[in-house]
Amino acid sequence: MNRFVFLFLLAFQVLPSTGVALPRRLVIALDGIAYRDMTALQAGVTYTNIWGSVLHRQAFSSSEGYFPASRMISTFPSTSDVAWTDIFGNRPLPGYQRTYFSAAANTLISHNGVTTTVEHERQMDWQVESGFLRSMGYIHSAQTFEYEMHAMVKNFWDTRSTNADYYAYLRASDDAQHLDRDIFSLLCLLDKQLQDLRARYKTEEGRDLQILMLSDHGHNHAGAGHRVKIQAFLEEAGYKITQSIVNSNDVVLPTAGIEDWVEIHNAPAETERLARQLAHLEGVDALAARLQTNRFLVMNSKGGRAMIEWNPAKNAFRYATEEGDPLNYRPVVAALQQKHLLDANGFATADVWMNETMTNRYPLALERIVRGLTSVTLNPATILISLDNQHVNAGWLVKESSRLENYGSTHGALDDINSDGIILSNFTPTRDTSSDRAARQFDGFPGMRDYRAEEDGAEWVTQKEQALTRIARDPFDRDYKLLPADGVFLRIWSPQLTHLDNQAPLEVVIEKIPRFAGAQTNRGNHNLADAPGLHLSFHDPISFPDRRADERIYACPPDLVLEPQTEYRISGRVRDQGKNLQLFEFTFQTDSRGRPAAF
Ligand SMILES: [Zn+2]
Repeated sequence: MNRFVFLFLLAFQVLPSTGVALPRRLVIALDGIAYRDMTALQAGVTYTNIWGSVLHRQAFSSSEGYFPASRMISTFPSTSDVAWTDIFGNRPLPGYQRTYFSAAANTLISHNGVTTTVEHERQMDWQVESGFLRSMGYIHSAQTFEYEMHAMVKNFWDTRSTNADYYAYLRASDDAQHLDRDIFSLLCLLDKQLQDLRARYKTEEGRDLQILMLSDHGHNHAGAGHRVKIQAFLEEAGYKITQSIVNSNDVVLPTAGIEDWVEIHNAPAETERLARQLAHLEGVDALAARLQTNRFLVMNSKGGRAMIEWNPAKNAFRYATEEGDPLNYRPVVAALQQKHLLDANGFATADVWMNETMTNRYPLALERIVRGLTSVTLNPATILISLDNQHVNAGWLVKESSRLENYGSTHGALDDINSDGIILSNFTPTRDTSSDRAARQFDGFPGMRDYRAEEDGAEWVTQKEQALTRIARDPFDRDYKLLPADGVFLRIWSPQLTHLDNQAPLEVVIEKIPRFAGAQTNRGNHNLADAPGLHLSFHDPISFPDRRADERIYACPPDLVLEPQTEYRISGRVRDQGKNLQLFEFTFQTDSRGRPAAF
């Protein structure tokens, strides 16, 4: 962007909001609203709340102009980060959760889920950024939800965005249900807020505000649930629960929150034996494991056993039972056979399976299991367990706390109760869909916030991970194809780069992080020039045909070899004509060869 364009845009941004047309559409990412709850509310629902009062509620009805809600089938696991990332077509995240196992670094990595912000959150025009307010969502969830609604509406009126679509994320709707709050009453409050917003919008803009609501998964409302005794079970079976996989009996169990699914990482040669044993764990409803590249085992607690074969080129799947019928999909196979929708080898495409299983107890199970074990995260598990609705998985930290007793509902499992989220609109009829297809009904969700134009940041990237981005929103989402397949690259972005010479070198400092010293980092007081550690200059950013001026991609120097599987901190700055711009600082792990691991 040249300087005049930049100044013009800057001037444009400070115009009072009354001078700029408001967005035409409000897209609300509404965490954890189940299809069955929204359809009940649209039709009108009579129920008894936890205080014993009988209530009748109706909201988002056709008389208000809303179309009937459609199903939005989540990923498996049916959890927030993977599902939202899939809905918006973003590059998969390193893990299903913010505590995850990095295969390259061979270690469990923990990020604080309350204070970290991932891509789908950054893309929102509005979301709660404060870690304090987010943590309040776990305590005063109903009040936090009301705060979120008011703040969203206020920010919508004050927006300086010139995009036609305005994106907002309401997360406390999920927290509120985990804590057993009355979701019908909260949704009625949201409906009322939106009625007021729509009325004022119509008066001021002379047209109707388009509203689109999406959720990422369902909620089971099944009560607190029993904690699944997976650790004791594995230890009795001779496995060792650990943070890295060295021996054949090592198992890593990343656990964050209280949900009804489990991810297991283990030595691949051990997967089948381990899966067969885990099928007997009390609380297991279904279990899926990747045995070979395109071959997946499904089991249930009753000894049922089937194989899913995947043809990636055609995105086709076959379900072959070996013992029993763990997904109860034999009737589905028979129906497809009768309609001549299976090929000679018994395969059908993902869309064919989708049409036949949209209202099944395990919707889109073959596709979701395969994607869950291969592509919805950069570090997929070897085994995924879907628990029944009477059980939950919780980390040892919450074992003794009262949190579990206050839990009223959860999600994460493969069944419809956990998996069926919503799409709801007041401007166009919608169709039942899934997290990886929803964007097709809305032009790929255009005009999401381009956070790289407003923030400083950096990350290690590889061609392989970048190729998993489904919706290209940034030039690099296409340009990555020009990178060598095997290298690791440093991607940096900052609005400040626009004013700097592209050849001004990037100076970085890489320091090893002492073990167990994570809490002692002095972030604000970091003087780079005096910092201990490895000082390097990165020159010659890679040039791409449509590169953006606020972003640079550097090849990681081939001679940069650090200690293998170790945690480091990297910080970087650019010096140009007396300016000294500190741009980023982040931690990373190295792989077994001592090269930075991108994920
Ligand atoms: Zn969620």
